[in-house]
Amino acid sequence: VDQDHTVTKRFVEKLANSGLRSTTQRQHVYTVLLETTDHPTAEDIFIRTKQTMPDISIATVYNCLDALVKCDLVRQVKINRGATRYCPNMREHCHFFCEECGKVYDVDLMAKGVRSLVRLPDGFTLTQAEVSLKGLCQFCASVTS
Ligand SMILES: [Zn+2]
Ligand SMILES: [Zn+2]
Repeated sequence: VDQDHTVTKRFVEKLANSGLRSTTQRQHVYTVLLETTDHPTAEDIFIRTKQTMPDISIATVYNCLDALVKCDLVRQVKINRGATRYCPNMREHCHFFCEECGKVYDVDLMAKGVRSLVRLPDGFTLTQAEVSLKGLCQFCASVTS
């Protein structure tokens, strides 16, 4: 109960900082995302959200996701040309895409983070760094080997 309360408070604050209102739908979509670790697409989120909020439309889900991204509660993950996926883990991490099952896993970075991997030309400012990895997850690797 306490944790729920903290999540809600942080949620309302984050939205307010970006000039956005906390709505039941936004909160619901965020809760659905927090319950996942598989980096769902907007469509996946729509299907899951509908289970407990049958009236919600896909347009509303997109609108909620936009708001959550704008206020830094959720980040977008783009892998190849596939549909945009969403990740509620805001710690610095990178994504591992399994070519066999199509799942996207969070992978922790070594202490220094992505910045330490690149040498930026003079005068460049980095605002975002992304590393994406591809291969086989532990489950798929054990089946094929
Ligand atoms: Zn896999
Ligand atoms: Zn992630």
